[in-house]
Amino acid sequence: MPSPIAHSVSGYVLAKFLPKNLSKNNASHWWNLGNFYPVFVAIFADFDFIPQFITGERFHRGITHTLIFAIGFSLMVGWVMNYFRQSSFKQLFLFTFILYSSHLLLDLFTAGGLGLQLLWPLTDTSFKSTILVFPQVYHSREVFDISNFISIAWELSYSVLIVSILWLWNNFSSSKFYE
Ligand SMILES: [Zn+2]
Repeated sequence: MPSPIAHSVSGYVLAKFLPKNLSKNNASHWWNLGNFYPVFVAIFADFDFIPQFITGERFHRGITHTLIFAIGFSLMVGWVMNYFRQSSFKQLFLFTFILYSSHLLLDLFTAGGLGLQLLWPLTDTSFKSTILVFPQVYHSREVFDISNFISIAWELSYSVLIVSILWLWNNFSSSKFYE
């Protein structure tokens, strides 16, 4: 998997391109707390290291890296927020689902590991792109191992690239109105 750097920056940038009018009224809501919500959703799947750490069983890249979990997670968030009547269920579901899926997509393009069992429980087949964009992060090696420096440098370059695209997009779309 990429480290949380690539996942969180992708969530941050992606959220800027998604429609913002999620609420039924224009009151400010909890996901408007800065950029916390999109970043949280984009890295959520990797919190599966916690049960793995506690139990020693293999959880990482398991159930949280399946489409069924992505749908369930997004439905639950949509339902909870709709229950409190603060948001449009459909919009929040889609917003969350797209951000959550960005995590799965990045993991598909990462070297190392067996891939993702995206369609579990329908099939146990593991999916992995043949074109790999991100190098493997070796969790078993030391933090300052050279391979981790390469991964981090690569992810930082990727992050700078997509933030630059966002910046250009923002400048382009705001300048259009004043010409
Ligand atoms: Zn992951």
